[in-house]
Amino acid sequence: MTPFIPPHNRRYEANRKTEKLAKGSVKKSEDNAERINDLEKEVEKLSLVCESLSRFIEKNLQDVTLDLEYEIDETTKLREQRRKSKNQCIQCSMLVPSSFNYCMYCGASLENVAKKNIFDRI
Ligand SMILES: [Zn+2]
Repeated sequence: MTPFIPPHNRRYEANRKTEKLAKGSVKKSEDNAERINDLEKEVEKLSLVCESLSRFIEKNLQDVTLDLEYEIDETTKLREQRRKSKNQCIQCSMLVPSSFNYCMYCGASLENVAKKNIFDRI
């Protein structure tokens, strides 16, 4: 049997629950805003690199026909190989997937080992 709760206490409980839900939503919203901010920074980096590459090609490779579809296929294969590749931990020498930022055996940071391409360096 549920205990009798006076109406003013029920209202108080309902207000508390609503407040709690609202706080949860605010937190979620802040987390999402942070993620969007991080993604926007990443897109900005990608855009910068793409524009720089495009300018480089225009300036230096005027006589070369760029087969972009072929290059995209090759890059996709290369990325797949990289995804499967492993790095050696500088601290314990174990092999760790190169997508990991930390060694799964000793916890050492692998960021310096993993940051190999231009997108990670800028
Ligand atoms: Zn290690």
